[in-house]
Amino acid sequence: MTVSQSSSGGFEESQELEMIRETARNIASDYDDEYFLEVSDGKEPTEFWNDCADAGFLGAAVPREYGGEGMGFWELSAIVEELCANGCLGAEMLFVVNVCFGGITLTENGSEEQKEEWLPGICDGSVNFAMALTEPDAGHNAPNMDTFAEKDGDEYVIDGTKQWISGADVADGMLLVARTAPQEESAKMQGITLFLVDPDDSAVERRELDVGIPTPEKQFELSIDGYRAHEEDVIGTEGMGMYQLFDTVNPERLLGASGAVGVGKCAIERAVDYAKAGLLTRKAAWMVDNEPDPKKTAEVSNMAKLRATEVGHEATDVALQTHGGNGFSREYTVIEMWKGSRLGKVAPGSTEMMRNHVAEHTLGLPRSY
Ligand SMILES: Cc1cc2nc3c(=O)[nH]c(=O)nc-3n(C[C@H](O)[C@H](O)[C@H](O)COP(=O)(O)OP(=O)(O)OC[C@H]3O[C@@H](n4cnc5c(N)ncnc54)[C@H](O)[C@@H]3O)c2cc1C
Repeated sequence: MTVSQSSSGGFEESQELEMIRETARNIASDYDDEYFLEVSDGKEPTEFWNDCADAGFLGAAVPREYGGEGMGFWELSAIVEELCANGCLGAEMLFVVNVCFGGITLTENGSEEQKEEWLPGICDGSVNFAMALTEPDAGHNAPNMDTFAEKDGDEYVIDGTKQWISGADVADGMLLVARTAPQEESAKMQGITLFLVDPDDSAVERRELDVGIPTPEKQFELSIDGYRAHEEDVIGTEGMGMYQLFDTVNPERLLGASGAVGVGKCAIERAVDYAKAGLLTRKAAWMVDNEPDPKKTAEVSNMAKLRATEVGHEATDVALQTHGGNGFSREYTVIEMWKGSRLGKVAPGSTEMMRNHVAEHTLGLPRSY
C-alpha cells in the first residue's frame, strides 16, 4: 500500500511513492530538451520508453500475473506527473496511448486470453497500442459514431472512418470502438462494442494528418473497409462498450491531468513561479484506485482534468511571457510546452465538456445538450 487518506481528508505519500518519483526524476535527468524536441519531430522515443519499462512504469497499474507491478492509478499518476515535471515533453501522451488505451483497457475488460497475449508486452515496452474512437462526426458526442460492425457467423465485418488516431503506424494492437446495433434515441449509449484489432490489416488504410503541434506519436485518419474481427476479438461485452470505455477514458483524463500538472510545474520552475493544481489530481488518482462508485470518480476526474489543464496552461503562458522574445524560439522549449498544454484544454475531453459534466453531476443543473 503506497497511499493512505488521513481522517482530515489529506493525501499522504509513502516512502515507496517517493522512491518511484525519484526513479522518474532519474530517468528524466538522462534526457534533455533536445531529445524530446527530436521525438516531437518524428524520432522514436525508444531509449526513454525502454527506461520507463525497465523501471516498471508501463505496467504500474497492471496486475503482477500479467507482467505488471500490481500498483494503482495513484502511482501511475505520480509517474506521469513526475516525468512531465522534469522535462519529459509528451510523456503523458505516450502513457495514454500505450499504457491506458492498451494496458488499462485490457486489464479492466479484456478476456483472460487477451490479457495473457497482450499485457506482458505492453508492460515490457515491446508492444505498442492505439485507440480508434473519434470520427469526423463523432468527437465528444461519441455515440453518434458511424463505424459499424455487422455480425457474420462468428465474425464481424467492420466499416467506417476514424480520425485523430495517435500512433496507428507503430501500433501492434488497437482498441476500435464500433456500433453493433443502430443508434436509438432513447438508448444512445447502448449497441456499441469494443474490438481488439490489427491496425496493419489490409482492410485498414492510414492517412497521416498534418498536425500543427508537437506530439510524440503521429496522428492518422483510418478508413476501415471490410475488416473481419472474430468474436474472440471483442473486448468486454457486446453492446456495452460505451459503458466499459469509461474504464479507459476516466484514467485517460487522470493521466491528462497528471501530465498537465507536471508540465505546469516544469514550466513554472523555469519561469520561477509555482502552480497549485496537484491536489485535485491526486484525489482523482486516489478515487480511481479506491472509490467503488464510478460516478463519483468521474466527477473528481473531470474536475481535476478541468482545473489542472487550465492551471497547466496558465503556467506555460506565464513561462512564455517571462522568456520574452526568446520564448518563441524552440531553443528554450517553452513554446513547445505552451502548445502541448493548450492541447490539454481540448483533448482528452474538452474544457466545455468537463464544465458540462460538473454542471450536471456536481451542481445538479439541467443537462445542456
Ligand atoms: C493530438 C490529438 C490526439 C488524439 N488522439 C486520439 C486517439 O488516439 N484516439 C481517438 O479516438 N481520438 C483521438 N483524438 C481525438 C480527440 O479525442 C478529439 O479531438 C476530442 O474528443 C474532440 O472531439 P472533436 O475534435 O470531434 O471536437 P467536437 O466534439 O466536435 O468539439 C468541438 C468543440 O465544440 C465543443 N462542444 C462539443 N459539444 C459540446 C457541448 N455539448 N457543449 C459545449 N461545447 C461542446 C467542444 O468543447 C469543442 O471545443 C486526438 C486529438 C488530438 C488533437
